[in-house]
Amino acid sequence: MILHSFHSEISYFPSSNKAELLAVISALIVLPSNSEVTIYTDSNNIITGYYDIIDRNNFIISPRKFFKIQTNNIYWSILREIIVTNNLTLDFIKVKGHSDDQFNNYINEFITHTDELSNLVFKPNNLINLDYIPQWNNIIIECNLCQFLKKKSKVQHWEKILNLNRNGKYRHPHVNVDWHYIFLMLNRDIEDKVESTYFTSIFSSKRKKQSVNLLTEEIPTVEKRKYLAHKIFDNWKCSFCEQHDETFDHVWMCEDPEKYIWKS
Ligand SMILES: [Zn+2]
Repeated sequence: MILHSFHSEISYFPSSNKAELLAVISALIVLPSNSEVTIYTDSNNIITGYYDIIDRNNFIISPRKFFKIQTNNIYWSILREIIVTNNLTLDFIKVKGHSDDQFNNYINEFITHTDELSNLVFKPNNLINLDYIPQWNNIIIECNLCQFLKKKSKVQHWEKILNLNRNGKYRHPHVNVDWHYIFLMLNRDIEDKVESTYFTSIFSSKRKKQSVNLLTEEIPTVEKRKYLAHKIFDNWKCSFCEQHDETFDHVWMCEDPEKYIWKS
C-alpha cells in the first residue's frame, strides 16, 4: 500500500545512480529523528556506495575523501548529514530487478502520463564537512574534482585548436572527425610508454609537430609559398609532374612515378 508518494525531476549530470541516491535522500529527509528504516532497492551501487563511503568511514566524510568520490559526492555528503543529524538507523535490502513489481508498474504508469514534474534541488551550502563547494559556471561539480579539472582543461585546449582559422574545415557539421583517435595518434609516444609524461624528448616533439602539420595541412607546398613570396613562385607548378599546382592534396595525388619513390 502506498501511503505517501513524491515525484520530481533532477537536473545536471543525470544518471540512474543519481536518481536512486536522490530517491533515498528524499525518503530519509521527511523521517522523524531516531527512526529505524529499511530500504528495499535493486541498486547495487547505492548499497555498496553507502557502506563504502559512509558506513565504513564511521559516518565521517573528510574533505580529502569527499573529493575522491567518483560521482555524486555532494549527495553522499547530504545523505550522511541527514543520517547523522537525525540519528537515523539505516539498513538496505537488495531486491531483484524491478520487473513486474507493483510499485514499479505504478511509477512507470505515472511517468508515462506526466508531462511536467517539478525539479528537485538540494542546496549544499551548509554542509558540516565542507567549507567550500566547488562550482563551474554556477553548476556544482558533483564528481571527482581532479578528474573534472583535467577533463575541463583538455576540452578547453581542444576548443582552442578547433577554432583556429586553419581548422575551419573540421568545424563543418558534416565532417565527422574522430578526435579521440586523433589525440591518441598525436600522443602515441606517451600512450606507448615510450616517453614518460614528465619529460619531453626532441624526437617525440618533432614527430608530434610533423603530425600536427599534416593534420592542419601546413606543409610547405608551392601553393603555400605563393602566399609568402608570390613574385618568386608565381608560375611554379608541381616539381614532379610539372603540370598541376602543388596543393596539399596534390602532394598525395601526383601521378608522377618519381614522386611515388619520394612518398615512400
Ligand atoms: Zn605533380
